[in-house]
Amino acid sequence: MTDPDQQARREAMVDYQVRARGVRSPRLLEAMRQVPREAFVPRDLREFAYDDTALPIAAGQTITQPWVVAMMIEALDLQGGERVLDVGTGSGYAAALLARIAGAVHSIERIGELADQARRALSDQGIGNVEVREGDGSLGWPEAAPFDAIMVAAASPRVPEQLKRQLAIGGRLVIPVGEDDEAQELVRITRLGENEYRAEDLADVRFVPLLGEAGWDKARARPQ
Ligand code: SAM
Repeated sequence: MTDPDQQARREAMVDYQVRARGVRSPRLLEAMRQVPREAFVPRDLREFAYDDTALPIAAGQTITQPWVVAMMIEALDLQGGERVLDVGTGSGYAAALLARIAGAVHSIERIGELADQARRALSDQGIGNVEVREGDGSLGWPEAAPFDAIMVAAASPRVPEQLKRQLAIGGRLVIPVGEDDEAQELVRITRLGENEYRAEDLADVRFVPLLGEAGWDKARARPQ
């Protein structure tokens, strides 16, 4: 059932946190009006679901700040119907937004507990076009490639070559990159041709580390 208070908070979030900061994609704004963020945060934090902040989820991870998710999805320039790879499923909220815009979403999470919870939350919302897998998303999802868009919600010391190679020609990859724990650069890579890519810096961001073969090693001590 829709809670009218949460609905009002969600509308306010879209207007004052997302639109006010320049996000304009009508499809994305509509998706943000429809997807209940409270369904993706821990029960005891639901009253904070529309705060302008990241929130803790299970396994020491976070659900990204709404406006940062919006900025990342807008940078993917989705028109509808695309095949999308979402690396770092976390709560499943970003996958739910992507599912409202794209045709098919493949979402990969290294922590099994989170993958299971996200699968349940997405199913509870009646979202059927997201496949969630437990695994190392720094290597992408080669069997499902190529992707029109890839979104990575964890910071990598460099752009994984494996992800670039899984883009369709014309496809976009959005990923936080940097060796500093406190600050990374959000980068968009566009695949222009077989071996031709364009890189653009979009914003300063702060994300949890991408732990995996093409990201940071588990000890978080050094790039792999
Ligand atoms: N998109 C998420 C959401 O909407 O809640 C936010 C994700 S959280 C900021 C980043 C996630 O990336 C964490 O759940 C973390 O476990 C996951 N992660 C880190 N390294 C990963 C890897 N190599 N493969 C897949 N997931 C990874």
